[in-house]
Amino acid sequence: MMVKGFGKSVLKGIAVGKIYLYRKKEFVLTQEKVEDAEAEIARFEEAKQKAGSQLEALYEKAVKEAGEEQAMIFEVHRMMLDDGDYLDAIRQEIRDTKVNAAWAVSTTGDRFAEMFASMDDDYMKARSTDVLDISRRVARILSGVGEEGIASDEPVILLADDLTPSETVQIDKSKILAFITKGGSTNSHTAILARSMNIPALVQADVELKDEYDDMLAVVDGFEGTFYIDPEAPVLADLLRRKEEADQAQAELEQLKGLDNVTTDGRRINIYANIGSVEDVDKVLQSDAGGIGLFRSEFIYLGREDYPTEEEQFEIYKEVLSRMGGKKVIIRTLDIGADKQVDYFDLPKEENPAMGYRAIRICLTRQEIFKTQLRAIYRASAYGTAAIMFPMIISSKEVREIKGIVEGVKRELTAEGKPFGEVELGIMVETPAAAVISDELAKEVDFFSLGTNDLTQYTLAIDRQNQKLDGFYDAHHEAVLRLIRMTVENAHAAGIWCGICGELGADTTLTKTFLDMGLDELSVSPSCVLSVRKAVREI
Ligand code: PEP
Ligand code: MG
Repeated sequence: MMVKGFGKSVLKGIAVGKIYLYRKKEFVLTQEKVEDAEAEIARFEEAKQKAGSQLEALYEKAVKEAGEEQAMIFEVHRMMLDDGDYLDAIRQEIRDTKVNAAWAVSTTGDRFAEMFASMDDDYMKARSTDVLDISRRVARILSGVGEEGIASDEPVILLADDLTPSETVQIDKSKILAFITKGGSTNSHTAILARSMNIPALVQADVELKDEYDDMLAVVDGFEGTFYIDPEAPVLADLLRRKEEADQAQAELEQLKGLDNVTTDGRRINIYANIGSVEDVDKVLQSDAGGIGLFRSEFIYLGREDYPTEEEQFEIYKEVLSRMGGKKVIIRTLDIGADKQVDYFDLPKEENPAMGYRAIRICLTRQEIFKTQLRAIYRASAYGTAAIMFPMIISSKEVREIKGIVEGVKRELTAEGKPFGEVELGIMVETPAAAVISDELAKEVDFFSLGTNDLTQYTLAIDRQNQKLDGFYDAHHEAVLRLIRMTVENAHAAGIWCGICGELGADTTLTKTFLDMGLDELSVSPSCVLSVRKAVREI
């Protein structure tokens, strides 16, 4: 009987194949008493060495198969395996309780994993699986159990609880059509791997790992976030037809990697990508985008209990900049408020939050928060090509005040002997006010980026969150298009460049219009980069 379920989709695409039910090889760990704790600690040290060599070999394998970036996780594992706190906790446990090393490693691993899992920071949370993974590796070696892997002769859809990084690397990639996992987040290693392999994957799927599913025909639909096990004939036929269309379209797009964004008559435009986190950089690199046109930095502030420190932010921006290898990264300063609420900011409840205390208005009134972010970005600017843009601007006075604060931050850093690079300063044009006075604003900054999501909501007075108003909403409203045109003209008259980073930038029915208007850049979600390139090249 057909089973239909849902999961969080990691990548658009459709895969059809047999289910391979992946269960971790059971190895039963028992708690035993040892007489000689020091000899047991020596056994542990030896197993740890061996685990280190295994990780080295896995790193080499992963570099060849998936590239340096994907392989990094095994370096991280090797470093975690050398963590003093972790090692001491294990030795201590063997010494104090005289238990066998495998047991001590396993229980210590569980404790550390719990600690990581309870942290607020998403990156640290994700390390929980890693510490379990390394502990499992060492415990297996101590128990004399071999490595985990997958044996299948034909390509399969892998159905699993969750996969650790070691498991994902040990899998023969040519044998995997798609992943369905019960656990995992869209930033989990399974998800990252799926993206790098460009295969559909559903994480957090509502699926049971029933033995009877093994070897059954299944379909993963990454467009809809659904999967079907033992699909009925008409459902299968429909999915197969859609798969063929999607495969063909994707294959055509892949051909465009490495090519210029140039029209048949030689007009060029930059196509950049939008991101919300460090993890998204993988997608940007795969998409062949020319840079990052919008890094929504407020995501760093969301889902935490307290303000991110300068150091935490610095590490994040530095990582994004270094991984982009010199390509431009435009970081938008904090755009909190309205739909993005954070408890620790203690923002007052408002009647009209979208028109309320948000974005630059918060930064200019709570300057300590703003300065911390600017210091972090400037310090990171030494590691790549950084640009900064400011959201929700309505006046030149605001821009001048911001520039004053920026100058102060630069002076401070210089006095402290902290290096920073050349940083372009721009603004988002996302209020009708900014578009209307864009001639004036253009004199103050290095570039404009049109935030068409907000520009449309404020111009049409249509709340972007309110689905009831969909009937009134017109993404191509002449008023918005005129404001865009006017902004580009004013930018060029002042000798600065102008792009779009709102969703409208990916609307390929407007690509020609944008080129005609003279836009210099379109920043779109990574998955849209190649389709916009295609549209440009066909003009
Ligand atoms: C916009 O308003 O168009 C924009 C890009 O910013 P956000 O969607 O984050 O408000
Ligand atoms: Mg906006």
